[in-house]
Amino acid sequence: MIIAAALPRLRRDHRLAEAEAVARLKKLQPREPGPIEAMALELAQRVRATPPGPLSAESFLRHYGLSTREGVALMCVAEALLRIPDAATQDALLREKLALGQWSSASAADWALLLTGKLMQWHDDPSALKNAIARLGEPVVRAAVRQAMRILAEQFVLAETIEEAVKRGAARAPCVHSYDMLGEAARTAADAARYMELYARAIRAVRPPDTISIKLSALHPRFEELKRSRVMAELLPRLRSLAELASQRGVGFTIDAEESERLELTLELHGALAQEFPAGLAVQAYQKRALAVCEWLVELGHQSGRRLPIRLVKGAYWDGEIKRAQQLGMPDYPVFTRKAATDLSYVACAAKLLEAPDAIYPAFATHNCRTVATLLQIGQGREFEFQKLVGMGDALYDLLLAQQQVRVRQYAPVGSFTDLLPYLVRRMLENGANTSFVHQIADPEVPLEALVADPLAQLPEPYAPDERIPLPRNLYPDRLNSLGVDLARRDILDALAQKIASDPPLPAVSSATDLPVLIGRASAEFESWSSVPAEHRARRLDIAAELLEGRMAELVSLIVREGGRTCADAVAEVREAADFCRYYAVQCRKAFGAPKVLSGPAGERNELHLHGRGVFACISPWNFPLAIFAGQVAAALAAGNTVIAKPAEQTPRTGARAVEILHEAGIPADALILAVGDGESVGAPLVADARIAGVAFTGSVETARLINQSLAQRDGPIVPFIAETGGVNAMLVDSSALPEQVVDDSVISAFQSAGQRCSAQRILFVDEGAAPRVLDLLAGALAELKVGDPREPDTDIGPIIDAPSQAALARHIAKLRKSARLVGEAPAPTAKGTFIAPIAFQLALADLPRTEVFGPVLHVCTYKRAELQTVLKWLRETGYGLTLGIHSRIQSFVDEVIAATRVGNTYVNRSMIGAVVGVQPFGGEGLSGTGPKAGGPHYILRFATERTLTVNTAAVGGVTELLTK
Ligand code: NAD
Repeated sequence: MIIAAALPRLRRDHRLAEAEAVARLKKLQPREPGPIEAMALELAQRVRATPPGPLSAESFLRHYGLSTREGVALMCVAEALLRIPDAATQDALLREKLALGQWSSASAADWALLLTGKLMQWHDDPSALKNAIARLGEPVVRAAVRQAMRILAEQFVLAETIEEAVKRGAARAPCVHSYDMLGEAARTAADAARYMELYARAIRAVRPPDTISIKLSALHPRFEELKRSRVMAELLPRLRSLAELASQRGVGFTIDAEESERLELTLELHGALAQEFPAGLAVQAYQKRALAVCEWLVELGHQSGRRLPIRLVKGAYWDGEIKRAQQLGMPDYPVFTRKAATDLSYVACAAKLLEAPDAIYPAFATHNCRTVATLLQIGQGREFEFQKLVGMGDALYDLLLAQQQVRVRQYAPVGSFTDLLPYLVRRMLENGANTSFVHQIADPEVPLEALVADPLAQLPEPYAPDERIPLPRNLYPDRLNSLGVDLARRDILDALAQKIASDPPLPAVSSATDLPVLIGRASAEFESWSSVPAEHRARRLDIAAELLEGRMAELVSLIVREGGRTCADAVAEVREAADFCRYYAVQCRKAFGAPKVLSGPAGERNELHLHGRGVFACISPWNFPLAIFAGQVAAALAAGNTVIAKPAEQTPRTGARAVEILHEAGIPADALILAVGDGESVGAPLVADARIAGVAFTGSVETARLINQSLAQRDGPIVPFIAETGGVNAMLVDSSALPEQVVDDSVISAFQSAGQRCSAQRILFVDEGAAPRVLDLLAGALAELKVGDPREPDTDIGPIIDAPSQAALARHIAKLRKSARLVGEAPAPTAKGTFIAPIAFQLALADLPRTEVFGPVLHVCTYKRAELQTVLKWLRETGYGLTLGIHSRIQSFVDEVIAATRVGNTYVNRSMIGAVVGVQPFGGEGLSGTGPKAGGPHYILRFATERTLTVNTAAVGGVTELLTK
């Protein structure tokens, strides 16, 4: 553990309050900004006056900033076009994206020219493009745009092979290069092996002082904290062998920076390499930990006796960092929310690196005139280099090279245009390049003085983070977001694993034997609970949410041990339960707080009141033992009902603990009563009891039918029945989809929680053209999953809930092994138990299952675009309608699928599980459930009865509102 000494500092700063982080950085800024300002302004003036080379990447960005529709349209085309195998889909993409633009700007001319000159007239007439498509025919346009995309690719990508890149690089002296062999991160062992080979080949081809950049996620399919021991055992030796080769040839290398959750692991690997080699590393200034990282690197350089090449960048994954922190409910962001704060951090880090020339050889990657001017000043007399991206910042660096003695290195992506262009474009799209310096310097509307202004002067005083980016906790206007757990942090993971390992064995539980008595108690409590003010009920639920979050570790341990869920699943469950409590508290205040006053004739007051109905039976499944259990109960209680809550027989302890917590929050003991037992001996008599005023059920469609029949046979009032049941959930993928993204999302959707989610993907419909790559990746990704004991944090897939379910799945798989084509499967479980290793089979449409297979089995079916309607008809005819995934870059495809399906929750270009309370209200239609959706605004209403009150106000004193007019 070489990095151990730095960890406390790094962890302290990881999600530090931004104001605190900035306060520290402010003290580390240059004392005399005057000369910096003057130099920055002069540089900026000259850069703005230099027109970018025609057809350069910069000119592309200048003309089509990502804030324009045309820019986004062209980027979308660039991202997808080259990978689409069939002409029809290519045309569909072009038709759709190019029709979006107003191609009237004169600056379109050079890009129009690219299209073999044939579309030159775009800029004269906004509709010219559409006319051109009509006139020339789509094949010509397609060929022309493909050609244009290649030319565009050549601006960003130095060459397709390293040998060619080295040749071209040599012609660009005095610039030296750092070659970057990247594309997507590896998803499979084969990908990683291929990248390994590419890096080794690059090291052999490169001549010093050129260097290479290494992306760790390309060299291992599971480069993540959870897989630390695999990473150390497999990736470190690979890196070592590359480093050895590099050192034999005298070629320098730098490890690239990636997402913030990979930082500790990256530092660990880099620290190990630095003991033997002068290993380089990229540091992202936008991270709050950046300064602590630089301090650590200085120590590492001193301690190892090596001068480490360190590249300082601003950071390229900002949007993703913000989004992920919000999704995971993190206490704060790992990155700054303001660009000016990142600029301060950059300068502070640069100063730190420059201070230690014996330990560090700094490289400053920037295209920003102010940053360059600052570095030239604070780096006077020090040895360092600038770095720039191929195709970017040319004017600035040409100027610098002409004026001063500076060293400039180009960061040069190398690889096939088909792979790299989409990758680079995605980076640009994700990072909103229109806020970047490169974009703004081209915009005459942005005054240069403002552009090069001191970042210190741009900060609010007192400092506050960007108000448009609330803390993850404050994402919603009317309630708190649930607090998550950072499972990418080793210390947190270890503490959780330790807690789970040291908890005592699960206690025995006894079944409810006196159900009629329990129902009697709940009935007696109803009058009192239903008449307390809504605010009082809501407040209890808010408190329950806090208690749930406060007991995170205890609940995670229970869910893991009793329900066989992984730690990540269990954390998500506790969060969902807390979200349900807070969400229904908000709904309770809104709907039950005061009567709704209705319009009507003069002299009359009309009000609509909502009331509880009586005793609700809440019957939940084992697969979300806390979230669904707590969600049903919270809604029923919020609406003023008392509740008999029956957890599934497999997970009674989690249900019991939830009831205890709700009682602790102030729900009276008889307003919420636990009834443990199986369906037959407790569930069935419960719903059959005439005192039950409503049933909320989640489970299988078969049980839902039984309950429905039982309710129908009861005498007395007809009561509401809310049933959420299963699904035959499909993902539809066309040939414009990104295969890597499809497979990432399919693996999550089909196999997470061992496929034991109602929302889980059961079928993958993939376009024939995209199928070979998708299925190849799927097989490779399956091979990387660990199936085993969920108490081990690195387990991806835990057990099947019980032996009968496991046996049923095993029978289904045995049948498919004989009748279908095996696509791929996960390795055998690493522990003994009721496991089923995830598996995928390819079948014909007619052979696909029409009922729910509740486990980690994915059924793949390929289709031709012309057969889409047949596939959609098949899907409708299953009668289920729970979740649906769509992966496509073509809106008309997405629209066509949505129009022809009847499904509760549809997800486009993402995974299809993990609905968030209040954000994606959840629930299906047809055989999948009655609705209303859980975690949606209408759910709580179904638990209520409505009463109106009409008062003839004229009876006492006339129609006052008329008389007083
Ligand atoms: P299940 O139907 O076997 O059991 C669900 C609950 O019903 C359990 O508490 C059980 O004891 C009870 N029950 C069983 N027979 C009963 C009867 N005759 N009368 C009253 N209660 C009875 O379902 P499960 O195996 O626990 O859960 C898996 C199923 O749940 C899957 O089909 C899954 O798709 C579905 N599910 C749906 C959703 C959703 O929101 N749509 C969410 C999670 C699970």
